[in-house]
Amino acid sequence: MEGPSLFLAAEMLSPFVGKTILAIEGNTKIGKERLSEKKILDIFSWGKHLVFQFDEFALRIHFMLFGSYEAIIKNKKITGDYPKKAKPQLQLTFAKGQIIIYSSSLKYIETAHAKDLYDFSTDIMSKKWDSKKALNTVKKLQEVEIGDILLDQNIFSGVGNIIKNEVIFLIKISPTTLIKNLSNLILLKIIKNTQAYAHQFYEWRKKFVLKKHYQIYRKKICPLCGEKVCRKKTGIRDRLSFFCPNCQK
Ligand SMILES: [Zn+2]
Repeated sequence: MEGPSLFLAAEMLSPFVGKTILAIEGNTKIGKERLSEKKILDIFSWGKHLVFQFDEFALRIHFMLFGSYEAIIKNKKITGDYPKKAKPQLQLTFAKGQIIIYSSSLKYIETAHAKDLYDFSTDIMSKKWDSKKALNTVKKLQEVEIGDILLDQNIFSGVGNIIKNEVIFLIKISPTTLIKNLSNLILLKIIKNTQAYAHQFYEWRKKFVLKKHYQIYRKKICPLCGEKVCRKKTGIRDRLSFFCPNCQK
């Protein structure tokens, strides 16, 4: 799941704030018993992290590549992603509802104020997002490919492979273009479009219409010129890129 899905998760799970965990199941080895009878005081997202704050500690959920969640709120089921088959890793039951986490990295943070540990100026979905700061950081990384830069969670917290590919296609550059070959103006355009696309992603995801808006991600034919889309792993992160060799140079 990418940042906008996490932002939406925090929003959709907000009815559980103030609620007490009555039962815990799941195959996690994190020491889940600790959560028994604990009341959730806050739920927030940062990048690809979802955080449940309790009185003296917090639970950080990192959905990694394949993680997801489901919840039942007032008899209505919500899902964090397109449904996948997995065994519940952590299942929290409340008086009225349930939260189930799948295939994620779970970690306790020993603080009553986990929010203070995060820098929200790098979070693509945050009101505190700082484009200028992103530009300054990117410019220091001249020899890095744009495809790798966009996936750097210290600069673009929350950007995943879908946002990366779609934004690079929008700007019509190749994912392997080095930062030193991009002007300030183009870099700023990429940064602004990344933020805008993330918010658009959120709106589409909310209505469950995200997939049909993909232009290049997992596509075979370029919607602009009809050429075959190139699909290959790029950069030192070795993540899949989808691009049109004809339109993106
Ligand atoms: Zn094309």
